[in-house]
Amino acid sequence: MLMQKEREQIVEVGKLLYDKGLVQMSGGNVSIIDRKASLVAIKPSGAVYIHMKPEDIIIVDLDGNVVEGDKHPSIETFMHLGLYKDHPDFQAVVHCHPLHAVAWSLQHDYLPSVIAAQWSINGAVKVAPYFGAGTPGLAQSAVDAVGKDGFACILRAHGVIAGSPHDIFHAMEMCVTIEDAAHIASICEASGRGEMFTIDRQLGEEGGYDGLEKIRRFSAQS
Ligand code: 13P
Ligand code: ZN
Repeated sequence: MLMQKEREQIVEVGKLLYDKGLVQMSGGNVSIIDRKASLVAIKPSGAVYIHMKPEDIIIVDLDGNVVEGDKHPSIETFMHLGLYKDHPDFQAVVHCHPLHAVAWSLQHDYLPSVIAAQWSINGAVKVAPYFGAGTPGLAQSAVDAVGKDGFACILRAHGVIAGSPHDIFHAMEMCVTIEDAAHIASICEASGRGEMFTIDRQLGEEGGYDGLEKIRRFSAQS
């Protein structure tokens, strides 16, 4: 079987996503790219994480053609492929459905930087305009919202997607960071106590935006 190690990691991360409540049953999808072979291992569409096995994982080429596997690849395969094409450094992509991030996306255009851990995703993240699941519009909307310098975005009324230059566990960690930040921002906003502290603003006031850019570059490299 092609991409055995990647298949095992996808199964492991799928179970972690499920255990942490970032997905329900079969929601979301996970992939890893082998850049030398120009192949991507991705979750089969509709696979329930607690039952998913390495042999269920589908291998596709960079045009989305199935190379190995007897099930349909995830309906979001082209969203994953779009991110791999736009970010030659991405090694893995995780898409999940965390509740607070989705709730935040219904009323905001971006999630500000409210926790220190957000430096690992370059601070604030955009909310991508709504398109139906599995559509070319959603794939393009995600690629545009992540942008050239970003790692992740929130998909309005749907979920989160993150690409990592390291590995699939890092991509999942980015999703957890976004969910934590959205949860905290939601609590703060619901308190009705007015404007909330954001790290972008503090850094902007303290060091000027040059300082902010330096930190962004550093966190992007590390
Ligand atoms: P798949 O089961 O086809 O991966 O779809 C799940 C999903 O999250 C769609 O956005
Ligand atoms: Zn989804």
